[in-house]
Amino acid sequence: MYLPMDLLTYHAAPDLLANRVILVTGAGDGIGRAAALAYAKYGATVLLLGRTLSKLEAVYDEIEQQGGAQPALLPLNLAHAKPDDYLSILRTIEKKVGRLDGILHNAAMLGPLTSLQTYDPETWDEVMHVNLRAPFQLTQALLPLLTESKDASVIFTTSSVGRTVRALWGAYAISKQGVEGLSRLFADELAGNSNIRFNCLNPGATRTRMRASAFPHENPDTLPTPNNIMPAYLYLMGGDSHGVTGQSLDVPRGDWT
Ligand code: NAP
Repeated sequence: MYLPMDLLTYHAAPDLLANRVILVTGAGDGIGRAAALAYAKYGATVLLLGRTLSKLEAVYDEIEQQGGAQPALLPLNLAHAKPDDYLSILRTIEKKVGRLDGILHNAAMLGPLTSLQTYDPETWDEVMHVNLRAPFQLTQALLPLLTESKDASVIFTTSSVGRTVRALWGAYAISKQGVEGLSRLFADELAGNSNIRFNCLNPGATRTRMRASAFPHENPDTLPTPNNIMPAYLYLMGGDSHGVTGQSLDVPRGDWT
């Protein structure tokens, strides 16, 4: 379901995310980086989770330069994360900021675009771990904090292959199908007894490293940048989307050229 076209020009109130603490996974690059900067710009304290510390530090510095609240760094390789790592994130957030009002599950790996006949099972596990198990386990571990928030939003990042599988998209497609179900299941199970909303958001084709590796012959200038699509990410994270839950939404398509 496409979000309304007017979200292309959605102007979030400058204090949309004031006093909110939001965790972004894969915050060092691409869409996650843009979201971390946007959330900080609109008042949030942002927790930057990712596997490459130098990239997270660069985002941290940018947030400080733009006058945002001091972020926190949560370096973690989600491909190898164990239950204790998720608990340690919970403890760190409890100790450093004491609350959590949102998670953007954005980190993902594409894996090889190859047929199931030849797909390497070890790589399959790695892709599933980063793209599906991590959003499940991180959400599960952080529910105690999210439950205490008056208005929490959890966004899972999906893809068109999460709705309809496409040949050669292997574990990536299956992981995104799983993410769609995971989001709906959290929304169903917690409906009525929590203030947490759970939605899937499909950014659509966006000018990032992952897109370039999936479509090497495409002209990136024809695609929106991560910054172009931030209105939808702000809308779903902030209070203006209160009551929207269990949905799978698409960033509206515009003329980006
Ligand atoms: P990207 O530029 O490749 O960024 C992916 C981010 O995930 C990076 O920050 C990366 O960290 C992080 N990451 C990857 N593996 C990780 C791991 N094992 N542990 C922790 N972090 C890890 O991709 P993107 O295009 O911005 O994608 C963001 C999301 O949008 C993904 O969920 C993707 O599936 C989805 N999506 C994108 C498009 C598109 O056209 N771009 C379309 C549909 C859906 P490093 O920088 O350290 O590698």
